[in-house]
Amino acid sequence: MSLSKQTEVIFDTRRGHDYDSANPPLYDSSTFHQKRLGGDAPYDYARSGNPNRTLLEEKLAKLEGGSHAFAFSSGIAAISAVLLTLNAGDHVILPDDVYGGTFRLTEQILTRFDIHFTTVDATQLTNIEKAIQDNTKLIYIETPSNPLFKITDIRGVANIAQQHDLYLAVDNTFMTPLGQSPLDLGADIVVHSATKFIGGHSDLIAGVAITNNSEIADALYLIQNGTGNALSAQDSWTLAKHLKTLPIRYKQSVANAQQLYSFLAQRPEIAEIYYPGNSDLHLAQAHHGGAVLGFRLADESKAQAFVDALTLPLVSVSLGGVETILSHPATMSHAAIPEDVRQARNITFGLFRLSVGLENPDELIADLNYALKEAFNESITKQITQQPTRR
Ligand SMILES: *Cc1c(COP(=O)(O)O)cnc(C)c1O
Repeated sequence: MSLSKQTEVIFDTRRGHDYDSANPPLYDSSTFHQKRLGGDAPYDYARSGNPNRTLLEEKLAKLEGGSHAFAFSSGIAAISAVLLTLNAGDHVILPDDVYGGTFRLTEQILTRFDIHFTTVDATQLTNIEKAIQDNTKLIYIETPSNPLFKITDIRGVANIAQQHDLYLAVDNTFMTPLGQSPLDLGADIVVHSATKFIGGHSDLIAGVAITNNSEIADALYLIQNGTGNALSAQDSWTLAKHLKTLPIRYKQSVANAQQLYSFLAQRPEIAEIYYPGNSDLHLAQAHHGGAVLGFRLADESKAQAFVDALTLPLVSVSLGGVETILSHPATMSHAAIPEDVRQARNITFGLFRLSVGLENPDELIADLNYALKEAFNESITKQITQQPTRR
């Protein structure tokens, strides 16, 4: 999408709000007066529709290049809605490193309703093709994946889906609607955890499902209204406001991430570094490497000392905030995976994920530099300086 178009979508350039206010009013109403019995007023009850949610959904649909968007109370609620469009007996193909919450939803809840799942290493297209069964209805992928940033060929999977008359859904959370456009590459549905970059302020939980297929849109609306998991008017209003800074936030985060990548890539304390910007396949289907990277310490026993010596990043679950967020998959997002399986999947104690925010990149680099040196010289310097934990 061109930049001028983006501006038109994100900002309310046509205005038209009451009193020409800069921001739209918040329609904090559960119900709406109906003048004509049986009439067709646009809103009657806020679970079914609310002007603030409509405004947000229209913006998100346009940004992602879709015709319809549905905003939900979380990313997982959006993913649930996509999967609840299926019927008992249907089969879905998922990546073996799918987001943990999506795995829990499929494994512990949806299988109880006789929906079947096969997980594959989706980076190999032949694995996907081999997993297709007579009852397969949906291929669901995530690229880049988490926490090892594996890249799946969206166009390649879309071709397979088309040949077999299946739908393709893509979790595009890591790249945002600005960094990668799966619908243009042949996907039928895109989902986002809007909790992450789209919201960007670590202040709300939200999700969105976007499609360019009106049949899928009808099915998604039935689930949104029928299961009651839509995003509230208040959160829709806030999210529409945060959307105005998404392009500039994301652009700066990506630029900062590239600087941090260059710094970390040459540090002897780092054994491995994962950044989608290094993948030709990723760069062929996305505009850049994004703002999240992964790295593995050369000595995992230094992980806690490294965290102790850091000042700037928030050490927590989540990503995509204005603040840099350092996550530790082994004890956070992937803690529920048994230790041996985690090791086999290379999610070791020394592995970190860094979602780069808007701090001054020189200060971030200085902070990481200090923490790496401090952690790896810990045994010597700790005794001398008794450096207290600075968090
Ligand atoms: C966070 C996340 C989700 C889940 O979103 P919530 O808003 O936490 O429900 C789904 N997919 C990815 C890739 C995520 O990072």
